[in-house]
Amino acid sequence: MAAKTERTFIAIKPDGVQRGLMGEIVKRFEQKGFRLVAMKFLQASEDLLKQHYIDLKDRPFYPGLVKYMSSGPVLAMVWEGLNVVKTGRVMLGETNPADSKPGTIRGDLCIEVGRNIIHGSDSVDSANKEISLWFKPEELVSFKSCAHEWIYE
Ligand code: UDP
Ligand code: MG
Repeated sequence: MAAKTERTFIAIKPDGVQRGLMGEIVKRFEQKGFRLVAMKFLQASEDLLKQHYIDLKDRPFYPGLVKYMSSGPVLAMVWEGLNVVKTGRVMLGETNPADSKPGTIRGDLCIEVGRNIIHGSDSVDSANKEISLWFKPEELVSFKSCAHEWIYE
């Protein structure tokens, strides 16, 4: 059961929000069978975004990345399920949409690396860090989906 409660942090970036892609992206995670744990629509502060991307602070694109991410609201989410971190990344596609296969979110819905519409945690460790950065413990909702037995063996 423990593996089925793995959690990942997914965020629809300001371009995804502005382009009206929130419903399409949420639909993909929902229809896959993952369970929504938390969702928050917010204008993230520069401080939060700097912290979120702290591992990239020495990269040349870091200032532009923080500016892009703070240029409008984002939809922050936590999704749960078996291998959701790794499968979530597969659903997103590659960092550069040009390398992302059709059928993936970035492969289907965007073109440039600096406007790649969605974030997804890259490991269970970073998922846990990101979830606690963006959400308070009491904002994480536990419930058993009535579809659970129809999704898992
Ligand atoms: N990014 C960018 N230029 C680059 C590499 C990354 O603008 O050359 C941005 C892009 O928005 C990416 C984010 O920085 O999603 C974080 O980079 P990371 O390598 O963590 O990619 P991700 O985990 O989002 O696929
Ligand atoms: Mg990353």
